[in-house]
Amino acid sequence: MSFSYDAKNELCRLDVQKHCCARAEAYGILLYCNTFNSGEVRIVTENPNFAARLPRLFYRAFHIRFDRRPEPEAPGKLVFQITDREKLDGMIDALGFAPEQNLVLHINFGLLEEECCRASFLRGVFFAGGSVTDPLKRYHLELATSHLQVSRELEALLRDNGFPPKGLSRNGSYITYFKQSDQIEDFLTLVGAPVAAMNVMSAKMEKDLRNSVNRRINCDNANLDKAVDAALEQTEAIRRLMEAGLMEQLPDKLQETAEARLENPELSLSELADSLVPPVTKSCLNHRLRKLTGLARELKGESPE
Ligand SMILES: [Zn+2]
Repeated sequence: MSFSYDAKNELCRLDVQKHCCARAEAYGILLYCNTFNSGEVRIVTENPNFAARLPRLFYRAFHIRFDRRPEPEAPGKLVFQITDREKLDGMIDALGFAPEQNLVLHINFGLLEEECCRASFLRGVFFAGGSVTDPLKRYHLELATSHLQVSRELEALLRDNGFPPKGLSRNGSYITYFKQSDQIEDFLTLVGAPVAAMNVMSAKMEKDLRNSVNRRINCDNANLDKAVDAALEQTEAIRRLMEAGLMEQLPDKLQETAEARLENPELSLSELADSLVPPVTKSCLNHRLRKLTGLARELKGESPE
């Protein structure tokens, strides 16, 4: 199952308790569901746990039952509908809209003054219009509605609550979204999905760890490659000096160094420096090896460096 699905299932396990919060959650669902106007409410879901929650929630919020609801255990798309005039008027009235006016959807902030209600409202928004991507793939949580005004007001609400979101429109939908893992964590925690939030956090830690290990390995590989290249160049230079019969003319220290390198091409610079008798410093050894490669270059008519 998808990460979104799991997060919503986690939210479905929350009890429908306080009346104010039930109303706020139902309100979020209505503003972000398939259809909400003065003639119809239509909520379509494929999540059986959400389908089980909806009737309880709407009963607690508005004291009404859906006119159409799916058979229990029905597969596929589950449709909930209210078309009864009286029920619709009652709901619209409870949400602070004037039923006689043409219903232009907006967020009635008066219903969201309590913190508990704001969290419940955002949970409803996420249930009906939200999705969150598997954090191991990327960080993305979005809330999509077809109502421009609602999306603007939602952004303001989120900003006021310390979640500055981003917004875009796509095929007639207005999308409010988050791209930062900590914002996604905070949002999920706020709406009541702390397990999903923890999963975002651990995915981030896993990715960060993997990145830092990869960086280390790449860095080690690069250093290793450089060391191998240098050792190859040194042994090649020493052979050339020997073939040219120049080795015997060199100072003893350089001869010893050349011999040690030829015998131990796999040793790192510091290992090779330690292997000499008496041992020398790494920089001293480096100096001698550069001298040798420089002489070999001169032999080829190149400049020593
Ligand atoms: Zn409340």
